[in-house]
Amino acid sequence: MLHLSAALTAYILTITALLGLVLGSFAACMADRVAAGESFLRGRSHCDRCGHVLTPRDLIPVVSWLALRGRCRWCGAKIPVRCPAAELLCAAAFVGIVLRYDVTLQTLQYWILTVLLLATALVDYDTAMIPDGFLLAMAADWLMFLPLLHRGAVGAAALRGLAGALAASVPLLVLVLVMDRVLKRESMGGGDLKFFFAAGLFFSWQSVLFLLIASCLLGILFALASSRTAGDPENPKAFPFGPAIAAGVYLSLLAAEPAMAAYLRLFLL
Ligand SMILES: [Zn+2]
Repeated sequence: MLHLSAALTAYILTITALLGLVLGSFAACMADRVAAGESFLRGRSHCDRCGHVLTPRDLIPVVSWLALRGRCRWCGAKIPVRCPAAELLCAAAFVGIVLRYDVTLQTLQYWILTVLLLATALVDYDTAMIPDGFLLAMAADWLMFLPLLHRGAVGAAALRGLAGALAASVPLLVLVLVMDRVLKRESMGGGDLKFFFAAGLFFSWQSVLFLLIASCLLGILFALASSRTAGDPENPKAFPFGPAIAAGVYLSLLAAEPAMAAYLRLFLL
């Protein structure tokens, strides 16, 4: 965004951050409802404990939480700190995208993907399940923007996306099938594989390499950083992999192409 004046840049970044806060709140709400098995399209936002419908002044991202000191206005139930945290994270992620891709259709597509990644990560963290609906929404986000972003070369772009999706999921699927045979247990959830497929649509197969490495490193980091060991005792995969994949996808949106170009240049020069 170097071509813009400083004032206009500041204005765009402020609007972007506010939009990120609001949509981060939306993602957290959507995740809570899906994790609880409720419809996220019907019904107004309400307190999980007392069921009181929230008023507009309870729904201002971060500000409401701080003003109420993290408690419900009516029953005093604690509102988890992850609500404002998810909002702030989404705001930062939105700013990152607009700094990288400017005010473009590409930015809009990646903002939508970011909201879906956040919601998916939250649901997987809570329930160790990755909702198919969110993955389908990611695929729809990819499909919807194909003709808008690649006018005149839609076919080539579609093939590139499908190659990315297959590159992100097929080698892992083979690995998982072999590991399952060797270990005689499930080594990786089917949801994780579907997540890699849906996310792979957004990348070339070269960038998928970056995505896989980033996701795995983040997965190890998250598992080490988290003391969480609860879960199915039959399945030693105690820490859900979804949040790491989501973070890996986001990192790849920002850095995969320049990183892979630099990496390939090592061999070509
Ligand atoms: Zn309440």
